[in-house]
Amino acid sequence: MSAPWRCRVCSQNNKSSAAYCPTCGGYWSKVMDRQGARPSQPPERHRDEAWWQPKGNQKGDQQRGKSPRTRRPRSPRQRGKGGQQPSQQRPEATTTAVPTTAQLPRPPKAKAVPTPKEVSGGATEPTAECQVLNQLIEQLGQAQELPDGVRALMAQIGQTTARTEARTLHRLVTQLADPVSWLDDIAVLLQSQSAKAAATDAARATALIYQYLSLIGVGLNLDQGKTEAIVSWHGPGAHDAKVQVMQKGAGSVPICVPGCTGLLLRCVLHYEHLGSLRTDGGDIGPAVEHRHREARSVYRAVKTRLLPNPNLTLAERQSMIHALILSRFLHGAGTWLFGSTESWESYVARYVGLLRGAIRPLHGCSSGRLSQPELCALTRALLPEEVLAVSRVRLLACIAHRGGRFARLQFAHHGAWILQLRSDVALVARVTEDTALKAYAEADLDAAAWIDAWPFNQGGTRALLARFRKLCVAGRCHLVEPAIARAHAHERIQQAGPVYMRDIKCSPRTLRFQCPDCPSVFTTRAAASAHRSKVHGHKSAAAQAFGTACEVCRRQFWSTGRLSEHFRKSARCAAIYRESDLAGTQAEVLADKRMPCSQLVGPQQWWATLDHPPLEPLVQPPSAIDPLPRLLALVQTEQLHSFFQLFACSVEAHGYDEVLAVLRTVPEGSDYWRLAVSVVSVLDSSNELHHFSEGALAAVFQTGALLYGPKDAVRSAVAGDWPSL
Ligand SMILES: [Zn+2]
Ligand SMILES: [Zn+2]
Ligand SMILES: [Zn+2]
Ligand SMILES: [Zn+2]
Repeated sequence: MSAPWRCRVCSQNNKSSAAYCPTCGGYWSKVMDRQGARPSQPPERHRDEAWWQPKGNQKGDQQRGKSPRTRRPRSPRQRGKGGQQPSQQRPEATTTAVPTTAQLPRPPKAKAVPTPKEVSGGATEPTAECQVLNQLIEQLGQAQELPDGVRALMAQIGQTTARTEARTLHRLVTQLADPVSWLDDIAVLLQSQSAKAAATDAARATALIYQYLSLIGVGLNLDQGKTEAIVSWHGPGAHDAKVQVMQKGAGSVPICVPGCTGLLLRCVLHYEHLGSLRTDGGDIGPAVEHRHREARSVYRAVKTRLLPNPNLTLAERQSMIHALILSRFLHGAGTWLFGSTESWESYVARYVGLLRGAIRPLHGCSSGRLSQPELCALTRALLPEEVLAVSRVRLLACIAHRGGRFARLQFAHHGAWILQLRSDVALVARVTEDTALKAYAEADLDAAAWIDAWPFNQGGTRALLARFRKLCVAGRCHLVEPAIARAHAHERIQQAGPVYMRDIKCSPRTLRFQCPDCPSVFTTRAAASAHRSKVHGHKSAAAQAFGTACEVCRRQFWSTGRLSEHFRKSARCAAIYRESDLAGTQAEVLADKRMPCSQLVGPQQWWATLDHPPLEPLVQPPSAIDPLPRLLALVQTEQLHSFFQLFACSVEAHGYDEVLAVLRTVPEGSDYWRLAVSVVSVLDSSNELHHFSEGALAAVFQTGALLYGPKDAVRSAVAGDWPSL
């Protein structure tokens, strides 16, 4: 080899005669960069820019890492070997100007620091709470009588969770406090000047942290799941940068530390930091999902073994839901921000779902017909928005008390978070009617000053939030009795036979997508396609995917999921796959979503060269199918759900009067059909109670609510439970 070669590990260009890299000592065939021997720039290009910026969004890249837990050394150590003193030449303006590798003191030699092994998960999971929980479940699982110790344990749980939550919050804040105080669970936010430099800048920052930490006797653990970077490439050059790092670098960037070889920084999709899952897009969905999984891990045990225990009072069992499940789910919720209604709804669904499951073990009735406020009332829980307000305000107080300047600036720069926080504070002020808080909520200050002006001390904050919680729960007390009565009434009616329906109306607004194979109607296209493929066995374009590459357009998508996405957009590729009669059974993932698509090499499969007409979409747009004939086809039905849904769709297409006129021309139908026609002809009459009967059937209808079934059962239901439904 006559050309100079480049070392992949330390990015050094070496003489062609050098068999070993003089810097890292690697043998040439092991460390040579095979992308070519192009002369390269030194990796530190932005050495004069501050490597952290208070606000990181656009071309942002974040990097987080954990270092093994260590104690701070008692006395400051000697700073290297003197020699160069770079600090005098640095501009004064930026407090954290980046010294170059050469200017940094060499890491202390041969002091292989005896770092204690990291207690895995110790930082993120409240393990003490887990132990107590396990003890509790074990005891209660067998004991008939409630042992004395259990009540004590119960009280302990509540305290422990509150304490661990507070501890985590404090850690979250203090680690953002001052750059010098990082030792444990370090998270660094940094922004690059260009997408191209994002990964190398992250590696550079890691190298600096590595060196600084080694000065104070802390070793950086670069293993998987320990120190990793979440890099988010945006802006011009993002694609090339992704190809470079994800494809050529296999998802990692070399870290150049003098005297150390083979250090690599992994670029990952997500990282669990202090119990919260962080992702590259800043999307909160995966974090919520992760916390939900954590909560589900104890949910079953609590639900089946603790909540039904008759030896515990209702209040005790309700507080268990809070202490064991909700607190686990809402761990770190103070930083949750929902950018889309979708992510908000998924959070609400998960939160409410946790409450819903507890209704039967607590009250012995079904939760099916209960509204969200009723669910919260029966479990003495806060509404989804209230519980987030509490978390955020608690975090605000924590920042105001403990946060350093850096942390305050970080939070103050987060406009959306501040905006949300202001409305949360207003909510708490409104409910508690606290004058100091009201004044604070309306204070016209800029974000940083506003955070500083938080008017309560720690005890005061705790008392305030407790009062807020109490008032919220008390405000829904009156819902408890009627809700339980209604739930029991529904259960009795269901057992007796009649069918209860509500929200029968002419306006279909929410119902649009019809299944071509049956009378079902759906609110979303996704639901309709899911129904059609599950019930009727039609495969959607996306379901044709197997493997990870499209053989038709010859592109590698790296996972079956992304190939499905491609088929959703390209009906032609999907059709050729369907006609191929080939199928795969399991989803494959070769690389995660950051890996750019690449062109396949080699000959094309013969079947992929055939042409077929593009695949028809599984679900037609709402206007494509006339619902009226489908409604008329239901004359013999006993399922009135479909009747009312298709009726609403027909009204939207043809108008109420026309549809009703057509329905009346139908000469005969089942008893159910005639009953349904009578009901829809009184739809627009306000609040009166209507009685109908056809053959052996009877029905009552009032303001959108319908009860129908055998005559006797309906009659006794109307006499008894109807008013409380
Ligand atoms: Zn080298
Ligand atoms: Zn976890
Ligand atoms: Zn269907
Ligand atoms: Zn294709």
